[in-house]
Amino acid sequence: MKELVTLKTAEQVATMRRAGKVVAEMLARTTAAVRPGITTGELDRIAAQVLKERGATSSFLGYYGFPATICTSVNDEIVHGIPGRRRLKEGDIIGIDAGAIVGGWHADAAATVPVGRVSDDALRLIRVTEEALRRGITAAKAGGRLGDIGAAVQSFAERNGFSVVRNYVGHGIGRAMHEPPQVPNFGTAGVGRPIGAGLCIAIEPMLNSGGKETRLLDDGWTVVTADGSLSAHFEHTVAVTDAGPVVLTAAEPARGAARSAAAGELAAAPARRGEAVAAGSRRRK
Ligand code: MG
Repeated sequence: MKELVTLKTAEQVATMRRAGKVVAEMLARTTAAVRPGITTGELDRIAAQVLKERGATSSFLGYYGFPATICTSVNDEIVHGIPGRRRLKEGDIIGIDAGAIVGGWHADAAATVPVGRVSDDALRLIRVTEEALRRGITAAKAGGRLGDIGAAVQSFAERNGFSVVRNYVGHGIGRAMHEPPQVPNFGTAGVGRPIGAGLCIAIEPMLNSGGKETRLLDDGWTVVTADGSLSAHFEHTVAVTDAGPVVLTAAEPARGAARSAAAGELAAAPARRGEAVAAGSRRRK
């Protein structure tokens, strides 16, 4: 069945921004707690506490049976690691992925941070992945094509010697966490679906220090690098406006275009439907 890409109105985007602020706080408080000796389950409880305080709910808990509030992916784990008894140790890196629902609208973001002192290589992987996300966001312009985003991420990642995961991609987001279109972190500029104002997408580069191949663990969730190399993951939920991309999951105070969005000055986005594309999802189809 084909699903349609929906473009969001300014009012809908404003609600997603409320969800995005909660996600930003979940990431701020969990990453601030990361240190050698803490368990991933403790980080999950911190994230759940933020949701409780803000009257929001988790996008992840119960999603296809996912058992936790956030995903915690350590070292060679790329995405979808399940929080639990694992105790972080000095030199690890951990990706934390959080999603929140406010008023029926979702926001989704992720960040990777070091645990104590880490190797220069691990730190460089983290920094390059974050910069790749920034470049992908900058490429999300009305009048452009989805391939512009993937090309921006891929070219920067590969120029820095890292590989881009192909089996998992970013996605449209709105009333559901995963909506069409799929947003690959690789591709060719100038090709793919047109990007229009009102498009809301989660851009989420996953970069590996080794090969791009992935493997799914027996828990049915955790995705790891096939060669055991390190992986980093950054993600933001972004709304495309006529004034440029707005990061809905930015921590306050938002800067630049994001500030005008926070102040309710979003360019009006028409509530029309785009072309039919294949359904977006966490697993690339
Ligand atoms: Mg996502």
